[in-house]
Amino acid sequence: MNIHEYQAKDILKRYGVRVQEGIVAETPEQAVEAAKRLTEETGTGWHVIKAQIHAGGRGKGGGVKLAKNLEQVKEIAGQIIGMQLVTHQTGPEGKKVHKVLVAQDVYYPGDSEPKEYYLSILLDRAKGMNVIMASTEGGMDIEEVAEHTPDKIFKEWIDPAVGLQGFQARKIAFAFGLEGEAFKEMVKFVTNLYKAYVDTDASMFEINPVLKTSDNKILAVDGKVDLDDNALFRHKDLAEMRDILEEDPLEVEASKSNLNYVKLDGNVGCMVNGAGLAMATMDIIKLSGGEPANFLDVGGGANAQTVEAGFRLILQDPNVKAILINIFGGIVRCDRVANGVVEAYKNIGDIRVPIIVRLQGTNAEEGARIIDESGLKVYSAVALKEAAQKVKDVLAEVA
Ligand code: GDP
Ligand code: MN
Repeated sequence: MNIHEYQAKDILKRYGVRVQEGIVAETPEQAVEAAKRLTEETGTGWHVIKAQIHAGGRGKGGGVKLAKNLEQVKEIAGQIIGMQLVTHQTGPEGKKVHKVLVAQDVYYPGDSEPKEYYLSILLDRAKGMNVIMASTEGGMDIEEVAEHTPDKIFKEWIDPAVGLQGFQARKIAFAFGLEGEAFKEMVKFVTNLYKAYVDTDASMFEINPVLKTSDNKILAVDGKVDLDDNALFRHKDLAEMRDILEEDPLEVEASKSNLNYVKLDGNVGCMVNGAGLAMATMDIIKLSGGEPANFLDVGGGANAQTVEAGFRLILQDPNVKAILINIFGGIVRCDRVANGVVEAYKNIGDIRVPIIVRLQGTNAEEGARIIDESGLKVYSAVALKEAAQKVKDVLAEVA
């Protein structure tokens, strides 16, 4: 689960990680109030107004702007709230901004030597260890640094059984070329950051930039945090940070029915049991000239209700021109799924798109018979290749 920058900073503060202070606002008026309070608390006169969306690259897209007085705070907050912000991570349609973070300007006016660094922590699955990535090229697109100057990314692996050792935190501070007070501050920063990462069961922390001010303070200017969904049950407070406005509405609906659904851009809706079979089905759709409209794993115990919920989801996507149902009857019996399909079809009523059903495994023949005798516009197939051919045929018909 992704969270917003302001929520990530709240977590960091709890662990003693210094951050660029800020207050979240949903209207220009609230933004002005926030700015006044920040001036009282931090002494800052200038503020940065930062769009809160679940995507990076906001600065380049016009979602991060400096305000030098309260009028500008109001004006800029008014521009950013409600805008459709497009960044390299949002896709061309962008994301609507509902909130801004009004933050203290930490690049002090006249500060000749603010230095930006990059720090992230994530799980290296191949090594079975967490890895801290550090770079002096902060504020930049890290993918670009990785491509053009990979030697500028320093990596330190952390054995989860032992945890982050003092010497490792110092190695990172050395890699940044720091000394004196800033060195000590960075060691503390990295140590607390790592503790926050482990305690929250995160799968990624990315702080870009980490800032060193001219008076040698180290602080997080940005914060991108991804939490492990499977661990949220033991972090009720973090689970509440979920912002469903940031998620695809169809995916939100799917999660309510316990369906594993990912929306894609193609024209063939697919409903499959098992993630591996779902991937194979998407491949076969592509091979037959279609493009999958979604990934949908209805799980091992598919019944009439799950099949119907899956159907409804797929049908809400206007791009869908055909549906391929591919079920392997292992735990679930094919006749039961077939009955589920027929029942769902009747319940939903007006289904405009052709449906190809491939049932294999326990009671497959019985399942195919139920489909064929239902009198509905459903085609049954036995082999995967045959199913793909039928998808091709129906797509050619609608084209
Ligand atoms: P991102 O573009 O989504 O990664 O958002 P960031 O939070 O990283 O902000 C983008 C850029 O805005 C940073 O790299 C900084 O250069 C700039 N920025 C952020 N905070 C401040 C600030 O307090 N003062 C000034 N002058 N610039 C800032
Ligand atoms: Mn950033």
